[in-house]
Amino acid sequence: MMDLEGSGLTKQRRTVLQVIRESEEHLTANEVFEDAKRILPGISFATVYNSLRYLKNEGLIGEVRFGTDATRYDRRVTRHDHAICSRCGKLVDLELSIPDGLFKEAARRSKFKAESIEFTLRGLCPECKKRSPE
Ligand SMILES: [Zn+2]
Ligand SMILES: [Zn+2]
Repeated sequence: MMDLEGSGLTKQRRTVLQVIRESEEHLTANEVFEDAKRILPGISFATVYNSLRYLKNEGLIGEVRFGTDATRYDRRVTRHDHAICSRCGKLVDLELSIPDGLFKEAARRSKFKAESIEFTLRGLCPECKKRSPE
């Protein structure tokens, strides 16, 4: 599943990119490392970590961070939102359309020079909801 976009990269960086693109999850650096080792035994954590930083700077992967949790890496690089489970930490992509004017209004109210806006839904994922008594 290698594409042209990743072909100018070193083998290590391509492996890290492949792990992220093939995962349905938003992996942490540790999880990327575990998967990368299966493809490229002998790859070091430092190499994985540096590759993640490189790929992020090149805009080939996204980065998601909530509070003090470990950074997770995202195969989607276009704007999207997330839902996070407050019990098990499951993180999924969420498609929301931003109402016209909301971005400008947020910028105006915060007095920030706005670059991006994201929403996070917090609550129980379907599995945790099933397990919790009504
Ligand atoms: Zn959950
Ligand atoms: Zn995402």
